[in-house]
Amino acid sequence: MKIVLFGAPGSGKGTQAVVLSAHYNVRTISLGDILRQEVKSGSSVGQQVKSYMERGLLVSDELVSRVIEENVDNEGFILDGYPRNLAQAKVLDSIFKKKKIEYDAFIYLEVDEKTLINRLSKRLVCKKCGANYHIENMPPKSTGICDLCGDELIQRKDDTPEVIRKRLEVFVGQSQAILDFYKSQGKFIEVNASAEKDEVFARILKILT
Ligand code: AMP
Repeated sequence: MKIVLFGAPGSGKGTQAVVLSAHYNVRTISLGDILRQEVKSGSSVGQQVKSYMERGLLVSDELVSRVIEENVDNEGFILDGYPRNLAQAKVLDSIFKKKKIEYDAFIYLEVDEKTLINRLSKRLVCKKCGANYHIENMPPKSTGICDLCGDELIQRKDDTPEVIRKRLEVFVGQSQAILDFYKSQGKFIEVNASAEKDEVFARILKILT
């Protein structure tokens, strides 16, 4: 299964990517996770992208496209966080053509803005494995501790009110062109993703099967 997951920050891409990749036994390629890892390790890529990420801006198309080209293959994947603008969508298309990859679906997780802000401002992530939680709707079993790996839960640096606003603004500015592009390719699926995690997953599976 080869899926491109799309949606605003807070739409549940990361959360659904985890359950979809377990269900289909394929890996998740999360651009945000890969970039955060680069920042954490202090690599030269990390140093280049850090200030963009902290401000909620997109990092260079060239850089992220290189990461994607290295990671997508015919083994199957859930792609989370790419493309984020029309130029990236076109690059992805050409990477797929070059590698003879037929993707199965482009899934748009549609969520209203109020829900997005609530999810992002109350989100907790595991420092080690990146698992996502929500203080009220999806709390961990023990406060501050990841259910999956036992490490500490933290708030992402870009989940502050000011940066959340910026990230949503960037999304709104770029999303329509991407949606139009994928609608014209005939593999477009739109899912109302304002519901809780299991319900959204069930909705996606119902459409895919
Ligand atoms: P995410 O974890 O998907 O919310 O991504 C966190 C941050 O990583 C974004 O706000 C961007 O700064 C950067 N980023 C992730 N994916 C991309 C992309 N496809 N293009 C450019 N920047 C990206």
